[in-house]
Amino acid sequence: MNINDMKINETWHKNNPMPKNANFEQRVKWHLEHRKNCSCRPIPEKLAEKMKAARINF
Ligand SMILES: [Zn+2]
Repeated sequence: MNINDMKINETWHKNNPMPKNANFEQRVKWHLEHRKNCSCRPIPEKLAEKMKAARINF
């Protein structure tokens, strides 16, 4: 697979690294921002389930 086929917003990623040992809230915030700015990967299924359980709309 050619990496150029992935719709990755490298600038956004450089400016928005995932915090180390991010807690649930930080991961949710990161993924919501990520989804707005980049489509290189979806919200992980496990995180999405936790978000649903916490009644976070996404
Ligand atoms: Zn991305």
